Amino acid sequence: MQEIKAIIFDWGGVLADAQTKEIFPYSLDVLEYCKNKGYRLTLASISSDFKERKTQIESSDLRPFFELVRISPISKAQIQDRSIDTKEKIYQEIMSYLNLEPAQVLIIDDRVVRGIKYGNNNGHPTVWVHSGRFSHELPDEDTKEPTYTITSTEELKNLI
Ligand SMILES: [Mg+2]
Repeated sequence: MQEIKAIIFDWGGVLADAQTKEIFPYSLDVLEYCKNKGYRLTLASISSDFKERKTQIESSDLRPFFELVRISPISKAQIQDRSIDTKEKIYQEIMSYLNLEPAQVLIIDDRVVRGIKYGNNNGHPTVWVHSGRFSHELPDEDTKEPTYTITSTEELKNLI
């Protein structure tokens, strides 16, 4: 992997359970590991429960690890719609802020149709957390193959 300088994390399915909404027990440890390695950490999240998501993130122990957090609302119907570009806008905003090359910014997501598709099509290394609610969604020509596939965010520590 080319030298990574920053990571864009997803929330649901990556740092917190998408269904129970509980933060995974290893999330804090993973962020500490990444921070200690010197990576700049950011968060991109879209949610149909925008207020609840925002409150949870802002009040969580994980919040201080991120130098930028971008959260956007989507409708319930849009959760299943793979063509929405709400998350693309957030990624673009984060990239303008970071001012780095896409190859230096790792995107980690549990959905191939969101972060993995965006990352693969925009020159980013990608890590797919193949687990949970959306694990039935598989890579295709549109999303392309993730750079790495793991089944728990905890495994990120073995990659970087
Ligand atoms: Mg997710």
